[in-house]
Amino acid sequence: MSKLYLVPTPIGNLRDITFRAVEVLGSVGLILAEDTRQARKLLNHYDINSPVQSHHKFNEHKSVEAICSKILTGTSVALISDAGTPGISDPGFLLIRKCIEKGIPVETLPGPVAFIPALVNSGIPCDRFCFEGFIPPKKGRNKRLSLLADERRTMILYESPFRLVRTLDDLAGSFGSDRKACVSRELTKIYEENIRGTLVSLAGYFREHAPKGEIVIIVAGKQD
Ligand code: SAM
Repeated sequence: MSKLYLVPTPIGNLRDITFRAVEVLGSVGLILAEDTRQARKLLNHYDINSPVQSHHKFNEHKSVEAICSKILTGTSVALISDAGTPGISDPGFLLIRKCIEKGIPVETLPGPVAFIPALVNSGIPCDRFCFEGFIPPKKGRNKRLSLLADERRTMILYESPFRLVRTLDDLAGSFGSDRKACVSRELTKIYEENIRGTLVSLAGYFREHAPKGEIVIIVAGKQD
């Protein structure tokens, strides 16, 4: 039976992809990609020739019905995002929910996601954690920060390099300056950097060394 596959793709290093992901991408009738040009780099690298169609946050509301019909009439479809696991701070959820509503089988392959290596590598407890993704840059920001102030689990945030220092400052303001944290930048890429310290020391470091690239922030939970 045809189905929807969610296929994680590398977060930097092109070799971080599973054999099965390559096999599935090569076998489906259609690959939905957030950015078709970005997808082509990966697909060409692995000599995958399945047709590719764009699927991103600006068209997914409109296209989910048509994609479901395609699967129901016999075409298996794979969804990929620009990097990592679809649905994790990336499009996917709407299509997955619609497929489930329509009784279409959904299969997610395990694979790359940015926050797991950042979490494990941080040296901050990884037995219990919560993923916050991007915290709102404006509206709702203070409320989110105050809700997190009592969180005891390790927290995971995605952030852009342009807002990193401001976010570290705001987290220090909400959680206290000596809260342990780690910033992972450019994971799996040539300039990978993992800086461990407190929220205040990290803010100081990145004031001195303007950050570039992609960033995950790991923050320790509140202690007794
Ligand atoms: N779907 C992706 C995943 O599975 O992690 C996340 C997509 S989200 C649009 C992009 C954000 O993920 C970046 O802004 C950054 O916070 C994080 N990210 C992605 N690749 C990364 C990398 N190589 N190093 C550090 N953070 C990364």
